[in-house]
Parts: sequence; structure tokens; C-alpha cells
Amino acid sequence: MAKYSLVVPAYNEEKSLPLFYEAVVPLMESLGEEFEMIFVNDGSRDGTKEILRGLAGRDKRVKVCNFSRNFGQQAAFLCGFSEATGDAVIAMDADLQDPPEVALLMIEKWKEGYDVVHGKRRRREGETVFKRATASLFYRFMRKATSLDMPADVGDFKLYDRKVVDAVLSLGEHDRLLRAQAVWVGFRQTTVEFDRPERVAGETHYTLKKMVKLAESGVFPNSDFPLKLPLKLGLGLLGLSLACFVVFIVLVCCGVYFGGLTAWLFPALGTAAGLLLFCHGLSNIYLSMIYSEVQNRPKYIVEDKFNL
Ligand code: UDP
Ligand code: MG
Repeated sequence: MAKYSLVVPAYNEEKSLPLFYEAVVPLMESLGEEFEMIFVNDGSRDGTKEILRGLAGRDKRVKVCNFSRNFGQQAAFLCGFSEATGDAVIAMDADLQDPPEVALLMIEKWKEGYDVVHGKRRRREGETVFKRATASLFYRFMRKATSLDMPADVGDFKLYDRKVVDAVLSLGEHDRLLRAQAVWVGFRQTTVEFDRPERVAGETHYTLKKMVKLAESGVFPNSDFPLKLPLKLGLGLLGLSLACFVVFIVLVCCGVYFGGLTAWLFPALGTAAGLLLFCHGLSNIYLSMIYSEVQNRPKYIVEDKFNL
């Protein structure tokens, strides 16, 4: 019999939490297996802590971590992961935007042998056009800028097998986007689709500033594309300027009248700027290597072994 851990970050969710508890418990109980719910109170300033104290008092399956201040949803998930004791861990939001019945579908997929089950948003109710557009752009940019095969429209609502949780926790990075790391670690991955409903109560805590920070944590630790950009631009500019010089020289040699001194300024400036960019790009290669050393990710993750 398997044990499941639900990991639920909660920031000012006093209204959602009782509804979350009432919706999730009967569904999880219907499995007839063991489960725990780990709530991480991310420095809430409303009655979240008291609500969670009450739930934990009457249900020993409810476990609560209270942060000393608001550290963010990613930190809250991480804390929950390190406390979770289940064979499978399900990360979900407290506002019932991640429907609990989809968690049961994820468990079915896990029982089929998948190690990571991503919740893929088919439709998103009650979200502004701006939020949908920026989210869609983010997923597409992530796929382009990083080498990760991240499925589009997938958030943090996921099931992780125990070995995936351990692999993710073994990455010691401070700045992390779990949905990217869940892909990076490998193993057997699949998705289940769902329509994302509106928040059950309260309002989103994701300001534009927090979304930009999230995007940064997704792109920069997983891509050296921005660091390699000056090298590529420098080489391009150098090539263009040198080609320009060649064309000008040929034109002058052929006796075709050409330009005056100012015409030669473009390739001259282009060569200088190209050289500078190129040198800057070269030092960025070292920066990229140092960053990778500091990240200190494992060079590989072993899934299992035979005869060893
Ligand atoms: N959350 C958190 N810390 C934060 C912001 C959000 O723990 O600083 C929690 C929040 O309580 C919810 C989940 O993360 O359970 C998702 O947040 P929210 O619903 O505000 O984001 P959205 O669904 O609008 O993207
Ligand atoms: Mg939400």
C-alpha cells in the first residue's frame, strides 16, 4: 500500500484552506491508502496559521510548517518536499485551482509506472488576458532558451515519485524553478490535462514582479544563451564588417567611384565593436563555466542498477 504526500503552499489563504480540506480529504480517503497533507504557511499575515493549527489539531494527517516571513511559493514547495514521507508527492495550490480529482488521475498514471505527472492546463478560467498572454509567452520562451523539453502550459501542479523528489532535493541551487527541475532530472514523464477553474476565494498573489522573478529563475539557471549572445553578436558584426571592407576594396580596385571617408566608417566601427563584443563574449564563456561549477548539479542521475 502506497503513501501519498500532498504539499500545499499557502499565503494568506484563510478563506480557501477550509474549503480545500473539505474537498480533498474525502477524495483521498476514497483511495483507501495512507496520505498526509503538508501545508507550508509562507509567512501569511491573515488567519492562515490559526486555521492550520485548528486542522492539525483535529487531524494528525495534517502537518504544518510556518515560515518566518514570505519566502515564496517555490521555497514553500521545497520545504514541503523535504518534510514529505510519501512514496509519491503531489504539489498543489491551496486555492482549489488545481482540482483534487485531477490528483487522483495523476495517482493512476503513477501506478502505471510514470515518475513525474505534469498537470497541463487546457483552459484557464477567470484569468486576465494579460496573465494568459504572459504565461503563454513564458512557456514558449523557456522551451526556446533552455535545452529542457518542458511541456507547454504546465505549472507546479504535479505528482513526483519519491526518487524524483530525492533527485530534485539533491540539486542544491538557491534560485530554482521546480517545474524546470522536474524536467531536468529525467525519469518517465507524462501529462494529464485539466481545465483550470477560478480561485475558490481570495485573489492571486502573483504580481507582475513575482512573475518576472519566476521567469528569471526558470531561464537563467537553465540556459547560458544570454551569456553566449555577445560572442555570437560580435562574430556576426565582425563578419559583416569584414565582408563590407572586401566589397569596398574590390569596388575601389575596379575603379568604381566609392564613397569618401565616411563610407569606410561603418565597417571600421563595426570591426571595433565586433571585436569588443567578441572579447566580452569570450569572458562570458568563463562566467558560464563558473556558474555551472557553482550550481554544482550532479553530472548524471542514476535511475536504477543491475548486478551492481
Ligand atoms: N503562494 C505562496 N507564496 C507566495 C505566493 C503564493 O505560498 O508568495 C501560494 C498560494 O497560497 C497558492 C499558490 O502559491 O496556494 C499559488 O498562488 P496564487 O494562487 O496566488 O497564484 P496563481 O494561481 O494566480 O498563479
Ligand atoms: Mg491560484
